[in-house]
Amino acid sequence: MTRTFDIAVLPGDGIGGEVIDATLPLLDRVAHGAPFAFRFASHPGGALHYKATGEALPESTFEAARRADAILFGAMGWPQIRYPDGTEIAPQLDLRVRLDLYAGVRPARALPGTSLPLADPRARDIDLVVVRESTEGLFASRGRGEVIGDAEARDTMVITRRGTERIAEFAFRLAKRRRQRGRPGRVTCVDKANVFRSMAFFRKVFDEVAARHPGIEARHHYIDATALDLVRRPWEFDVIVTENMFGDILSDETAALVGGMGMAPSGDVGDAHGLFQPCHGSAPDIAGQGKANPTATILSAAMMMDWLAERSGMEALGGAAARIERAVDAVYASGRIAPFEFGGRDGTRAIADAVASNL
Ligand code: ATP
Repeated sequence: MTRTFDIAVLPGDGIGGEVIDATLPLLDRVAHGAPFAFRFASHPGGALHYKATGEALPESTFEAARRADAILFGAMGWPQIRYPDGTEIAPQLDLRVRLDLYAGVRPARALPGTSLPLADPRARDIDLVVVRESTEGLFASRGRGEVIGDAEARDTMVITRRGTERIAEFAFRLAKRRRQRGRPGRVTCVDKANVFRSMAFFRKVFDEVAARHPGIEARHHYIDATALDLVRRPWEFDVIVTENMFGDILSDETAALVGGMGMAPSGDVGDAHGLFQPCHGSAPDIAGQGKANPTATILSAAMMMDWLAERSGMEALGGAAARIERAVDAVYASGRIAPFEFGGRDGTRAIADAVASNL
C-alpha cells in the first residue's frame, strides 16, 4: 500500500518559486513506483504577499503548514518591502517560533567536482553540520528590543536550560547517526563562555548533556576562534552546536566554504514539525532570470525525505533521499554543469534536468 505524505509548499518571493518549481518534479520522480507518494499543496506568503495584502503569512498558510507532514519552503523577503519599524518581512522566523522548530540544521559538504574557495586539497573533505538553536538566543529579542531616548539601544540574549538541553541532545543524536555513516561523531559547542554569563550557562548545560553521551566526543570552541578555524581547517569539524545568532553567522560562512548559497541546504526541525529550505534568500538581483541554482533546494528536499523516513520508519524514503544526493553528486562530479553562481552558463532548468537524468 502506498503511503501519501502531505507537503505544504511555501514558494515565497523571488527565486524561491523558481527553485521550488525545479525541485518538485524530482520528488515525484523518485516516488514513482515507490511505496510512498507526495501530495503537494502550495500556499501564499512572503514580502510581495505582504505588500499586496498587508499580511506576510496568512493564517490559512500557517494552518496548512501546521497540519502537513512536512513543509518545503523557498525563500521569503524583499529588501525594499519592510514592516513599518524598518525590519524585513521574514515569516520563516515566525514559523520557527510558532511551530517550535528549535534545531536549525545546516549541513556543508564539499560536493565532488565543485570549485571551492580554499585551495588546500583537504577542503575536499569538508563535511560538517551547523546545528543552530532557533527559538531563543539573541533572536529572542526580535521585535522586543528597545531604543531609549534616541541615545541607547538594547537587545537581550535569552538562554534557557530547556532550550539548550534539547538542542544539545539533538546535536549528539545527529553525531551518533553521522558516525554510523562513517563520520567522526564529534560535537563542538561554540560559545563565548569566557565573557558572557549566558554563554557560560550554555556551555554548562551542554556539558551535562555531553555526559549522557560518553561515546561521542564533545569539544568546546569560542565563536571567534571558530570563525577563524572554519577558514583555516574546516575539515576537522563534524557537528557544531551553537546559539541562534552565532549559528546564523557561522552557517553563512560554512555555505561559502562549499561553494555558495545555491549549494547550501537546511532544515528547521522540532519534535512535531519539520521545515526544509535552501539557506539562501530570495536573491532579487537574479530573480526572474532562470539563473538561480536549485541545488540547495533539491538537497533540502532530500533532507526532508530523510526526516520523514526517520519519523515514519519507511526505509524506502531514506533510500530515495540518498538517490537524490547521489544524483546531485554525479552531476557535479561529471564537470558538465557549471552554475551561473560560479561564473558558468547553467541555469535553474539545466541543473534540475541534469539531476533528473542521473536519478
Ligand atoms: P536573506 O537575508 O533573505 O537570507 P540575503 O540577503 O542573505 O538573503 P540572498 O538572497 O541569499 O541574500 O542572496 C545573496 C547573494 O547570493 C545574491 O547575490 C544572490 O544572487 C546569490 N544567490 C543566493 N541564492 C542563490 C542561488 N540559489 N543561485 C545563485 N545565486 C544565489
